[in-house]
Amino acid sequence: MSRRRLTRQQKARIAAIREKRLHQAQNGADKLARHDETPRFGTVVVRHGRSLVIADAERRLVNCQFRQNLGDIVCGDNVIWHSTDDGDGVVSAVRERSSLLSRPDYGGHEKPLAANLTQLVVVAAPSPPPTGYLLDQYLAAAEQFGLRTILVINKSDLLDGDDEQFLDRFETYARIGYRVLHVSTKQHTGEEQLRSCLKDESSILVGQSGVGKSSLVNMLLPDLDIQTGALSSSSGLGKHTTSSATLYFLPQGGTLIDSPGVRSFRLLISDRAQLEQGFREFAPFLGHCQFSDCRHEQEPGCALTQAVESGKIAGWRLNHFRLMAQALGKT
Ligand code: GDP
Ligand code: ZN
Repeated sequence: MSRRRLTRQQKARIAAIREKRLHQAQNGADKLARHDETPRFGTVVVRHGRSLVIADAERRLVNCQFRQNLGDIVCGDNVIWHSTDDGDGVVSAVRERSSLLSRPDYGGHEKPLAANLTQLVVVAAPSPPPTGYLLDQYLAAAEQFGLRTILVINKSDLLDGDDEQFLDRFETYARIGYRVLHVSTKQHTGEEQLRSCLKDESSILVGQSGVGKSSLVNMLLPDLDIQTGALSSSSGLGKHTTSSATLYFLPQGGTLIDSPGVRSFRLLISDRAQLEQGFREFAPFLGHCQFSDCRHEQEPGCALTQAVESGKIAGWRLNHFRLMAQALGKT
């Protein structure tokens, strides 16, 4: 690891953060004993190590500590908390999660990223065009995590006659039941449809670099600066660092969980059965191959291969499935 030279100002800031953390740790045990009995509901907006910023029922932000035995609390978790004498809070319980998005860390352990999401918004654009099977990987992962998916074609202002292949691909997605929206952050087209899809949902935007995800976030959250400013002052850690997954409130109702880091992460599929389930149009054919352990490659009597031959499944989807199956366990 290379040593980074820190400026005097950075050093001072780090020292201040350390001091605050130390103070929090020393106070932590006391606080757990000195909190008010009234249980309150809250949602985790962001986690910084051992402390959380939660939004209470009125969306006021409260800095909270939590007991180690509560496990891994993440952005989006619904919690029970109690206020403490100094205006902060203590989290005493995490409510059951409806979904948990995670990814394997470098050691191969699942690292939770965000809880209670309902929707994955997969963003693509004619430029840069989608690479390989990335979109199908997102779609399959969404099925695995139990999330609804919307596909957003951003930069639709750039679409022209040369984009037939690109559009054919999205016609297939629409045919197999995915909602496809044409949006342009430049011309604000499709903005209302996108907003109504996000209303009252908890969504996350993903997609490859350059397709316009940060432009979309800025379009959807006109008060982004105000929300991050409020976070900075409530966490007491100086400017809000956007590297951690953070929950933002959408003006029309609903939330968007975002951070530059999570926008481009790859979601991995854990096993072959999950992968098969992740291609929703394969469902009527699964279990109908000649061999019960068919890998849907070159085997005779493969129901998926036959479905491609009779035009019931798009050939490129089966190809992408095969590539993803070959890559299983290699990452
Ligand atoms: P990200 O990497 O996915 O976050 O993409 P950005 O939001 O940074 O956008 C990448 C580039 O695409 C920028 O130069 C944007 O100005 C441009 N861009 C974003 N949305 C649109 C759009 O709707 N139409 C056009 N033509 N360009 C866009
Ligand atoms: Zn088969």
